[in-house]
Amino acid sequence: MGEIYDIREWFLNPNDLLVISGPCSVESREQLLATAEGLSKIDRVKVLRGGIWKPRTRPEAFEGIGEVGLRWMQEAKQRYGFLTMTEVAVPEHVELALKYDTDVLWIGARTVVNPFSVQELAECLKGCDVPVFVKNPIAPDVKLWLGAIERLEGAGLRNIGAIHRGFSSIEETSYRNAPLWEIPIELLRLRPDVPIITDVSHICGCRELLQEVAQKALDLGTLGFMIETHNDPSHALTDAKQQITPDSLKKAFSGLVLRKKIIDADEMVLQNLRKEIDDIDDEMLNLIAKRMNISEKIGDFKKQHKLTVLQMGRWKQILEHHINRGVNLGLNGESVKEIFEIIHKDSIDRQL
Ligand code: PEP
Ligand code: MN
Repeated sequence: MGEIYDIREWFLNPNDLLVISGPCSVESREQLLATAEGLSKIDRVKVLRGGIWKPRTRPEAFEGIGEVGLRWMQEAKQRYGFLTMTEVAVPEHVELALKYDTDVLWIGARTVVNPFSVQELAECLKGCDVPVFVKNPIAPDVKLWLGAIERLEGAGLRNIGAIHRGFSSIEETSYRNAPLWEIPIELLRLRPDVPIITDVSHICGCRELLQEVAQKALDLGTLGFMIETHNDPSHALTDAKQQITPDSLKKAFSGLVLRKKIIDADEMVLQNLRKEIDDIDDEMLNLIAKRMNISEKIGDFKKQHKLTVLQMGRWKQILEHHINRGVNLGLNGESVKEIFEIIHKDSIDRQL
């Protein structure tokens, strides 16, 4: 596979954030132009997004304005100088989006879960040099995300980016889509050449969390944001709870702390801290290995004396003790519980 081009060479100055904003759905010419006008006052916003075909959970919901919306996007681009971006889910969307000079495309989370759909899009994009962003699939599966990127690469595309928009989860969380930061971090580890930006709107699902999540994404080194804006958010036809006005977006940006690029002296400090962490991780691994050896010896003893492997009373007692001790040390009790559950499960497996 070839090399992915650096996002900052596509349409940005180096060191700048890529900010994509605009309505969840294009609803009317007035709504789109009013939103675009508001966004044109924010220097950071370079790309105007707008959903033309909306993947809705239930069929009776607003499913997008369709082709006419692309005309309005084109008009907004001519008036305000934005690049335009829309979601494509089937080849017909790609053809229409390109017909109206859409500059950037994205493939949505529900489409990325289906390799047949992604392959069809890839085939239809063959020979185009339009930049395409791939949202993470709704399922927390980094390989599915990576696979979609690879299908586009296989079709010869090189301007490919990834959008982290969070994951569906059965657990109740305060987010609409749990961020599971470890998954975009894993994608970055596997493919450091693929630029990743963060769709804070679909992670949060509400306005209140946007700032906090955006700051976290910046702290983790995101290259940019997708964030939904609407001239009248509470009356939006889709995603009304999470959209904000362009004015609120401007305010939100002023509250964010941008991390500067590492310079030499700072890099030394960071490297030393990382070295300390590496040493601690090493030590932890040695200790875990030592613990597993002892655990095997206990297993042999239990076999000889015909004792059950799982001694529930003792396990409950030590788990409680570790959680309390962890909390006293300022650790998160839930995380301590998970760590020991994994260690315990491994110990039991060795004794069986
Ligand atoms: C959207 O961006 O409006 C959208 C539908 O996104 P996702 O595919 O992330 O749900
Ligand atoms: Mn949306």
